[in-house]
Amino acid sequence: MKLHIQNNFTTELPADPSEINIPRQVERACFSYVTPKQPSNPSLIHASAEVANLLGLSQSDIQSDDFLNVFSGKTVYPNTKPFALPYAGHQFGNWAGQLGDGRAINLTEVTHDNKSYTLQLKGAGPTPYSRTADGFAVLRSSIREHLCAEAMHYLGVPTTRSLSLMLSGDEVLRDILYNGNPAYEKGAVVCRVAPSFIRFGSFELFYSRNDRVNLKLLTDFTIKHHFPTIKSEGITKYLDFFQAITRTTLDMIVHWQRVGFVHGVMNTDNMSIHGITIDYGPYGWLEDYDPNWTPNTTDRQNKRYRFGNQPEIALWNLYKLANALYLLINDAKPLEEILNAYSVDYQKEYLNMMRNKIGFKIIKEEDAILIENLTELLQLVETDMTIFFRNLGNIQKEDTTEAAFDTIKEAFYNEKDITETTLNNWHTWLNHYSDRISEEILTDDERKQQMNTVNPKYVLRNYMAQLSIDEADKGDYSLVNEFFELLKKPYDEQPDSQKWFAKRPDWARDKVGCSMLSCSS
Ligand code: AMP
Ligand code: MG
Repeated sequence: MKLHIQNNFTTELPADPSEINIPRQVERACFSYVTPKQPSNPSLIHASAEVANLLGLSQSDIQSDDFLNVFSGKTVYPNTKPFALPYAGHQFGNWAGQLGDGRAINLTEVTHDNKSYTLQLKGAGPTPYSRTADGFAVLRSSIREHLCAEAMHYLGVPTTRSLSLMLSGDEVLRDILYNGNPAYEKGAVVCRVAPSFIRFGSFELFYSRNDRVNLKLLTDFTIKHHFPTIKSEGITKYLDFFQAITRTTLDMIVHWQRVGFVHGVMNTDNMSIHGITIDYGPYGWLEDYDPNWTPNTTDRQNKRYRFGNQPEIALWNLYKLANALYLLINDAKPLEEILNAYSVDYQKEYLNMMRNKIGFKIIKEEDAILIENLTELLQLVETDMTIFFRNLGNIQKEDTTEAAFDTIKEAFYNEKDITETTLNNWHTWLNHYSDRISEEILTDDERKQQMNTVNPKYVLRNYMAQLSIDEADKGDYSLVNEFFELLKKPYDEQPDSQKWFAKRPDWARDKVGCSMLSCSS
C-alpha cells in the first residue's frame, strides 16, 4: 500500500512540546502528537472503494494487511507521526472552553491527483483532548458515520468522506441513554477523509486565550493551503476568508434542507471551515416533514438544532467565527456586512432550491407564497418528505385535482388524519400548482427528470441505519453493504430496492436509535 505523504500541517505549525497522553490544557500549539491505541483484533467490515481511489489506493490495497493495520490504528504508516487537534467551541449555545480531537487522531496528509486529504481515525483511543471520556467509538455510531458520510456525498451534499469501517476487537462501555445503565458494546474505528479537520472552534480557541500569534499562524496556514483562490493581503485577506466560509456554509445548509438532513449537534466545534458536513453523531433524516424535529435527545428540551432552525444556527455559529477572526481584523463593520448578507442570500438560495424541488424553471415572485403554503401544508398531518417530493414529480399538467392528490397521497402516514379542510387545502394548492406547471415550457417528463435530480428516492432513513446496526451487532454485514450500494445512486429508481422507498414503520416511531439518539457515543 503506497500513499503519497505530505506533512504540511505538522511541518508549518507549532507542535505541543509535550507528548504526554493525558487530558490537559494545551496552550500555544496547533496540534499534539499522539499514537493510536493498538486494537487487539482488528477486522475490516467495509471500505469505500471510491474514497480509496481518491487516495490512489486499489481494491487489492483495501484487502491488504497494511490497510487493515494502518486504518485500525495498529501500525503507524512509515514516515508519518499521528496527531490530534485542539479546538474550543460553543456547545448548545454555551462557551465550552478547550475541546479538541478527543477520540480522533489524524494519521497524515496525503496527496493524489493534485488534491490533498487529511486521513483521520475516529475511535482510535485517547488523546490529550479526551477530557473525561475514553477516546473510543462503538460499532453503532461508526456504522452511522460510515454510511451517512458516503450517502451524503452521493446526494451531492458537501461532506467529509469515510474510507473504512473496522471493528477494533475491543469492548467499550457505554450508557446509551445516560440513565445509569452502562453496557459493553463492540468498539469500532472509522477512517474519515477531508481536506482538513479544521473547525470554527479551532479559531475560537486562540481567540479565547487572546493568542493572536497562533490565531494568525493557523489562519494564514489555512488560507495558504485550503483557500488558494484568495490572493488578497492584510485585512482583506481575512475578510475574503470569512466571506468564503460564510458562502460554503450557507450552501451546505441549503443542501441539508433540500434532502431533509438534521445534523443534531451544530456546535461550533462541529462546523468545518470547508463548509462540509462533519461529525455524524445524533443526526437524523426528516421522515415526517416537521421543522421542529430533532433526533438528538440531549437537545429535546430546547430543540436548538431542530430542522427548521439549522439556517439560523449556522449564522449564529458564523458570528462566533467572526468574533474570533476579529482579533486579526479589528474592524467589525465589514464582518457585520458579510453576516448581514447571509440571511438575504440564504432566502434567495432556499427559494431557488425549493423551486427546483417542485420543478419550476421560470422564476416568478409569487412562487415564494406557493412554496410557503406548501411547507405549511406538509405540517398539517404527518407527511413523509422524501416520498412527497419524489411523487410530486409524477404529477402531469393535465391531471385532475383528484388524480394529482392520488399521486402524492402515499406520503401521508395516516390518510385517516386528513380532514375535509385539510383535503380542501391540498386541492387548492394542487390547483395552483397545476396552473403553475402549465406555464412552464418543460414537458411533464422533462420536469420529472429534472425534479428527480434534486429529490432523492432513497435516503438513509433512521430505521434503516438501525436495522443495519442490529444485524451488524450479530456479525451480519449484509445490510451495511446493501445500504452502501443503494445510497450510491440515491436519485435512481432502483426498482429492486423499492422496499426502502417506504414510510418509517410504526415500530421505529419512538425506538432508541431510530428517533432518539444521544450526543457522543
Ligand atoms: P461531539 O459531541 O461528538 O462533537 O463531541 C464533543 C467533544 O467531545 C469533542 O471534542 C469530542 O472529541 C469529544 N468526545 C466525544 N466522544 C468522546 C469519547 N468517546 N472519548 C473522548 N472524547 C470524546
Ligand atoms: Mg465533534
